Amino acid sequence: MKQLTDLLSTRCQSLDTSGIRKIFEMATTLTDPINLSIGQPHFDVPEPVKQAAIDAIQAGHNGYTRTQGIGQLHEVIAARLKKELDWDLDRDGLGVLVTSGTSGGLILSFMTFTEAGDEAIIPDPYFVIYPAGCSMSGAQAVYCDTYPDFRMTAERLEPLITERTKFVLLNSPGNPTGIVLTSEELHDIVDLCNDRGVLLISDEIYDEFTYPDGREDGHFPTPAQFTRDMLLLRGFSKSYGMTGWRMGYAVGPRDIVNAMAKMQQYSFVCAPSMVQWAGITALNTDITSFVAEYDSKRRMVLDAFKGVAEIVEPKGAFYAFVKVPEHLGMTGTEFVKSAIERNVLVIPGSAFSRRDTHIRISYATTDEKLREGLDVLVNLMKRGT
Ligand code: PMP
Repeated sequence: MKQLTDLLSTRCQSLDTSGIRKIFEMATTLTDPINLSIGQPHFDVPEPVKQAAIDAIQAGHNGYTRTQGIGQLHEVIAARLKKELDWDLDRDGLGVLVTSGTSGGLILSFMTFTEAGDEAIIPDPYFVIYPAGCSMSGAQAVYCDTYPDFRMTAERLEPLITERTKFVLLNSPGNPTGIVLTSEELHDIVDLCNDRGVLLISDEIYDEFTYPDGREDGHFPTPAQFTRDMLLLRGFSKSYGMTGWRMGYAVGPRDIVNAMAKMQQYSFVCAPSMVQWAGITALNTDITSFVAEYDSKRRMVLDAFKGVAEIVEPKGAFYAFVKVPEHLGMTGTEFVKSAIERNVLVIPGSAFSRRDTHIRISYATTDEKLREGLDVLVNLMKRGT
């Protein structure tokens, strides 16, 4: 008899279960692991933001909203863009689309711009949705190998652009490396994309988590300083601990954003309504103390691995991408297995890359857990030295 799974599309079958999930399955045997694998802040949603969502539900904001998102949230986003980048939505012909998470913005980008025969350039290492988005849309993922310093520069991108390239997907601060590109590097990428007629998409979900040494004159470096002909994807998940609330936004030339809104109309419909109302409060919430806390955790990680393992200093996000010392003769996956045997959960680089030479540590946890976990990892790395 025919199995229902025989009916699965090749698109679906071509997707590998995310490497992260595989590790979580391996870890189900652990009772109280030291978890350095989570891609979300360890702080809860700020109280006023929670209250705003509760108030919105009580006030009856429970129906569909406009596909592009409620006007009140657009106004706050517009004010932020004006202040940060001097982007003026009306003057500059820009549009905003409130999405279901930054993931929603990414999937809509893939669906709006790419199909079979197209190419999309993504970094390697990458955030897991980037190659999956290519598979789902039928596009060919063209990997920009950024080892060993993890900088996706114009020089590395230039030879990869072809007639078929639709967009370059940039992620700074980056997951899984925490690398922050400089304004100069970003300017070169903007020039390259403009010259070659490809869209630049900038996934800036970690914008707020840019530490002082990654900032320039106090500002987070973004390609949006140099052009408005690009697509900016931002989110609420990381900055306000709202990962389960599913909201982000896309900003770019109005025609492009309208095209994405059309795709949203027939898929996600709109971002959750009460979350949109709470988003207004979120964007007015100061999270500098959280960021300062994560900066000190970052220092803990860097200090722990000094002289033990190669690590390119992360200047943003809350991850460190650490090379498994060569003397161990282990792949990232093998190292992670031995860490799990010692009750510490981290993710192998292979979940984010075609290589399996590193591990990703998330330091979004308490200092105590981080210290314990780092001790285990460092001891494992020192074996045989
Ligand atoms: N982009 C990057 C680089 C990420 O790390 C994540 C979450 N891990 C996302 C996008 C998606 O975030 P969300 O959909 O929760 O906004």
